[in-house]
Amino acid sequence: MTELLFRDDAYAQAFEAEVVSATPGRVVLDRTLFYPEGGGQPGDTGVLTLPDGRELKVTDTRKGEAPGSVAHLFEDTSTVLVLGTRLAGRIDWQRRHRLMRMHTCLHLLSAVIVAPVTGGAVGDGYGRLDFDLPESPERGEVQEKLNALISRDAPVSFRWITEAELDAQPDLVKTLSVQPPRGAGKVRLVQVEGVDLQPCGGTHVARIGEIGEVVISKIEKKGKQNRRVRLEFPGAATTIS
Ligand SMILES: [Zn+2]
Repeated sequence: MTELLFRDDAYAQAFEAEVVSATPGRVVLDRTLFYPEGGGQPGDTGVLTLPDGRELKVTDTRKGEAPGSVAHLFEDTSTVLVLGTRLAGRIDWQRRHRLMRMHTCLHLLSAVIVAPVTGGAVGDGYGRLDFDLPESPERGEVQEKLNALISRDAPVSFRWITEAELDAQPDLVKTLSVQPPRGAGKVRLVQVEGVDLQPCGGTHVARIGEIGEVVISKIEKKGKQNRRVRLEFPGAATTIS
């Protein structure tokens, strides 16, 4: 198991950890701030510094083979880390913050467009959500509503509840726009005050004003019942399939 430090503090950038397992180009640590790819959000990048000062450039982070473990991937395959080695880690904060802004923005988009969400992805500076909708919403109207919502600068908060607590509060289940995954015992709910409540394990900004201005770049028809809404930060390059 890797302790997921980003769950407690999405704004922490540096940490220390110990090597739990390692193969060429890959290391699992006992704790990490690197978010592993999942829930539509890409894995973090950054740097791991060895005790002798050498730096390993982390190019991606994935869920490890062992349940609950996180694997940091790096290009230098000639370095195999020794178990128990203490490392210092630092995530690429500029990139992660853009991912957090876009990820949180997708929560808001799911509140602006009231329809079941069938898919989604977060990229660096851009993102998309797919909706089960027979008709396309009007692009300009969605963009206006979304930016108006962002300017309310509502706080984002978290709470953990057990599956039993969730079952005991049927009203809560009705409020959630996404059905929480079952079987983990505990569910983390992410609340954008007055806007959205849903289970999510990703990283989010503390207040939605941090997202800044967003542009709806395109609304595409993907099948009879599916509409793909693409959004980006002004000036960002956009390619995401
Ligand atoms: Zn989320």
